[in-house]
Amino acid sequence: MVQTQISPSSTSALEGKFSKEQLAWLDKAKAFANSVSLQEVIASDKDNVFRRDLFEKACQPEWGLGGLPFPSTYGGSAGDYVSFSLVNEEFGRRCVPIMSSLGVHVLSQEPIYRFGNEEQKQKYLVPSSSGKMLAAFGLTEPNAGSDTAAIETTAKIDSNGDYLLNGTKTFITSGASADYYIVMARLLDSAEQSTAASEKAAETGKAKRPGQITAFIVERNFEGFAIGQKFDMLGMRGYSTCEIVFNDCKVPKANLLGQHGEGRKVALSSLAKGRVTIAAQSIGWAQGALDACLDTLQKHYRDGAITADANGMAGKLGDLAVQIEAARVLTFQAARLIDANEQSVTVAAMAKTMASDVAMRVSTEVMSILGMDGMKPELLIERIFRDAKAGQIYEGTNQIQRMLIARDLLK
Ligand SMILES: Cc1cc2nc3c(=O)[nH]c(=O)nc-3n(C[C@H](O)[C@H](O)[C@H](O)COP(=O)(O)OP(=O)(O)OC[C@H]3O[C@@H](n4cnc5c(N)ncnc54)[C@H](O)[C@@H]3O)c2cc1C
Repeated sequence: MVQTQISPSSTSALEGKFSKEQLAWLDKAKAFANSVSLQEVIASDKDNVFRRDLFEKACQPEWGLGGLPFPSTYGGSAGDYVSFSLVNEEFGRRCVPIMSSLGVHVLSQEPIYRFGNEEQKQKYLVPSSSGKMLAAFGLTEPNAGSDTAAIETTAKIDSNGDYLLNGTKTFITSGASADYYIVMARLLDSAEQSTAASEKAAETGKAKRPGQITAFIVERNFEGFAIGQKFDMLGMRGYSTCEIVFNDCKVPKANLLGQHGEGRKVALSSLAKGRVTIAAQSIGWAQGALDACLDTLQKHYRDGAITADANGMAGKLGDLAVQIEAARVLTFQAARLIDANEQSVTVAAMAKTMASDVAMRVSTEVMSILGMDGMKPELLIERIFRDAKAGQIYEGTNQIQRMLIARDLLK
C-alpha cells in the first residue's frame, strides 16, 4: 500500500503534520465512514436517495460534523478548514453518501456566519449545526452557470417592505431535502419593477440587466416556493439535486442576507471556501480509486497472475501517486490559508482544478488498469469515475478556474 502524507493506515504516522485536534477529526471521519456499510453506499447511488438520517447522525454532538468550522456559540464544533478538509478527503475515499450535502451545508452556513445578523445566526446557523435544519445554496440558473452575473431571478419589494422572488434555480444539491436556501436574486428598484422597464432592459442585453444581485435566506415553507424537476444524474447521485422555483415567493425583510447589492460578494466569498472542500473530496476520490486498484492488484500478485511492471503498470501507478500527493499538498495549503485568515481565491481555484482533474485522471486510469474489475460497484471505482466528473464542473468549471488564475497572473 502506498504510504502518503495523509492517507496512511493509521493517523499516528501523521503526527507533527497536523495538530492533535485535526487528527482527532480525521479519526472521527474514519469512524463515521466505517459506520456506513458498503451496501448502504452502493444503494444511495443506485436508488438516488438522500440519506437524511445519516446527515442528522453526523450532526449529533458525538460526531459534530454539522457546523464543524463555526464557533460553539453558534452550535458549531470550533474546528478549522484543515480539519474539514481531512473529513472531506476521508468521505470522498469511501463515497460516504452525505459527503456532497455536508459540503454544501457548510458552504451555505458560511454566508450566514460572515454576513448574517445575530438574529439570523440564532435562527439558521444554530439549528443547522445540530442537524435540525439542512442548508442548500441557490446560485445557478438554466441560463446562468459560469456567468453568475447573468442570473435572472428577480426580487421586488412589496408594500410591507418584504420581498417577492420570481425565477428558477437549477442543479441545486440537497434541493429537494433542504430546509433553507441561500438564494441570489436581482433586486429591482421601483422603476425597474415596471414591466415596460424590465422589457426594455431585456432587449438591451446582458450588460444592462436590471437590479442589483442580492442574497436572501429562503425557507422551503415560504409561500410561493416549490421544488421543480429532480435530476437522475450520471454521478453525484443520492443528493436530491433538483430545481427550486420561486413564484411570487414571499421572503420577509428579516431574511435579507447582507446589504442590497452584496449578493455576488456573499456568494463568491463562500465559493472560495467551497472549492477547497471540493478539492479535498477529489483527493479522497483519487486516493480511494488508487487504494482499491492496489488492493485488487495485490490479490492478483499473490495469485501470480500479473507482474508489477506488466504493461508499464509500475510507472503508471507511481505517476498517479505523485499526482495525488501534489494535489493534496496544494489543497491543504489552500485550507491553511483560510484558517490563517489569508483566504486566496486563486489558490483555492488552483487546488480545486488540480485535485478534480487528478481525481478524473486517476479514476480513468485505474478503470483501464483493472479492466472488468473496475466496473464492479463494490470497489467503488466506477462510482468515483462518475462522481469525479462533477468535481470538474460544479462551483465553477475548471476552465473558468483557469481563467480566474490567469486573470490574477495578468493583474
Ligand atoms: C452535481 C452538481 C451539483 C451542483 N450543485 C449546485 C448547487 O448546489 N448550487 C448551485 O448554485 N449550482 C450547483 N451546480 C451548478 C454548477 O455550479 C454549474 O454547473 C457550473 O457553475 C457550470 O455552469 P453550467 O453547467 O451552466 O456550464 P456553462 O457555464 O454553460 O459552461 C459550459 C462550458 O462552457 C465553458 N465556459 C463557460 N463560460 C466560458 C467563458 N467565459 N470562457 C470560456 N469557457 C467558458 C465552461 O467552462 C464549460 O466548459 C451543480 C452542478 C452539478 C453538476
